Amino acid sequence: MNLCVRIEHRDRHLSRRVRDIAQEAASLVARRVGALPRTELILTNGRDLGKLATDAERAVAGGGSAGRRPDESVFGRTVLSPGGVLVLVNADRHTGRGRDEVDTTLVHELVHAAQFHRPGARAELLAGLRHNYGIEPISDSRARAMNRRIDRDEREATRLERLARHLS
Ligand SMILES: [Zn+2]
Repeated sequence: MNLCVRIEHRDRHLSRRVRDIAQEAASLVARRVGALPRTELILTNGRDLGKLATDAERAVAGGGSAGRRPDESVFGRTVLSPGGVLVLVNADRHTGRGRDEVDTTLVHELVHAAQFHRPGARAELLAGLRHNYGIEPISDSRARAMNRRIDRDEREATRLERLARHLS
């Protein structure tokens, strides 16, 4: 499987759960959605998540600036990285009562990773990034089409969260 897992958070329960289920979640998602690209999954805190996401996106876009601070309160985020895809899981949102939700977050974000590997997806995402980072603008109609695709992907990822039930 094309997945490597990095733990950069000290919550032992959470770290163990992520390690235990990551490969299985990736297999479930790959069977349902399609193969994953080379994927690095990092469990980290909200602040570092924002920075890691921005650094990866800037590296892919070729510089520029998104002009807004990344949202540090998300459960997770999946972005293009130079070597493939980076899946970031926000440990701060999965402590205490949020613990049980980490299975769902992993499945949701890994669905996005698989979506990013569909034919043509990376080129489209790259064009979107270069637009968002102020490097190369795209037309309004293309931006609208992209936003529709993002909404569709989001609905699919949310629908497939139920796959998390099958994780042992
Ligand atoms: Zn999503």
